[in-house]
Amino acid sequence: MDYDAVIIGGGPAGLTAALYASRARLKTLVIESMTVPGQAILTDSIENFPGFPGAINGFKLIEKFKEQARHFGAELVTGDVKKIEGFEKGFKVVLEKRAYSSLSVIIATGARPKKINIPGEERLTGRGVSYCATCDGALYKDKNVAVLGGGNSAVEETLFLTRFAKKVSLIHRRDRLRATKILQEQAAANNKIEFILESKPVEIKGQDKVTGVILENIKTGKKTDQACDGVFIFVGYEPNTAIFKDVLDLNDKGCILADPDMSTSQKGIFACGDCTQKLLRQVITACGDGATAAFSAQQYVEELKGIAYK
Ligand SMILES: Cc1cc2nc3c(=O)[nH]c(=O)nc-3n(C[C@H](O)[C@H](O)[C@H](O)COP(=O)(O)OP(=O)(O)OC[C@H]3O[C@@H](n4cnc5c(N)ncnc54)[C@H](O)[C@@H]3O)c2cc1C
Repeated sequence: MDYDAVIIGGGPAGLTAALYASRARLKTLVIESMTVPGQAILTDSIENFPGFPGAINGFKLIEKFKEQARHFGAELVTGDVKKIEGFEKGFKVVLEKRAYSSLSVIIATGARPKKINIPGEERLTGRGVSYCATCDGALYKDKNVAVLGGGNSAVEETLFLTRFAKKVSLIHRRDRLRATKILQEQAAANNKIEFILESKPVEIKGQDKVTGVILENIKTGKKTDQACDGVFIFVGYEPNTAIFKDVLDLNDKGCILADPDMSTSQKGIFACGDCTQKLLRQVITACGDGATAAFSAQQYVEELKGIAYK
């Protein structure tokens, strides 16, 4: 076997698993995709990760996680995992042009933004429709943008966009936001933010670039045209688990079903972070899952090697 533990995903869950696995002296490899962006790495400001009062930038936090995992011996490579094979004596984690064998596998592939599937969304993606304020926010200096969504990500990204935009319209279907109260307070105090509640987007308008979004009032059914230069969509996330659907038990949303010890339906494969079925999707909970997954993988590997502490 090349490794004791191969970890798929280099976000908070995967890198915490790498830290714990390498400290347990498992020969550990982390594989991180360069084409599927991690969520934490794209988050501008993380205010609620303990130990960083005044917020830390997501990219910087991930760099710190990497440095700490490497310090204890974890190896990190980039590549897209395509599938996991072999389930008899260890696993083969297959990438496009290479494969790694391992006694155990920890899946930490996170999630990606959900689409809302309305006319104009697909066609205008990259031409004013975006799912990442950190990536594209600076393009909207002194312009008007709309944000679709009402949860934590939508409000955080709305606040971030006010650094650049002239006005940010936060559009949500319900009569109140779902985001945590402190974020709502920050948004309410920001005079660049306009709240448009009880309204759903039905079409994104524009020929070569976004010119507006058509909204429908949930109660009256009345349609209005909201002019804007960009539309940012934060209406939830889908787990990056399609490649595991024939291998592991998933729920109806595609989240991997993991037990409290992070074991999955396949012995020797563990899962952690936002790709699993869980209550709260945050950096801190992803880290907790990652630590548990590594501990369980350690016990599994030591059992296989006949060196388990009993
Ligand atoms: C806009 C936004 C703002 C947020 N703000 C906060 C916040 O303020 N505080 C907070 O605690 N949380 C916040 N979150 C949530 C937090 O980012 C996630 O809960 C956390 O990143 C989950 O960690 P993860 O390791 O499970 O997944 P991710 O961070 O998504 O990492 C997944 C990793 O898997 C890799 N990957 C995926 N598929 C493959 C594959 N096939 N092969 C190899 N690698 C693969 C990716 O490249 C990435 O490295 C925010 C999320 C978003 C989207």
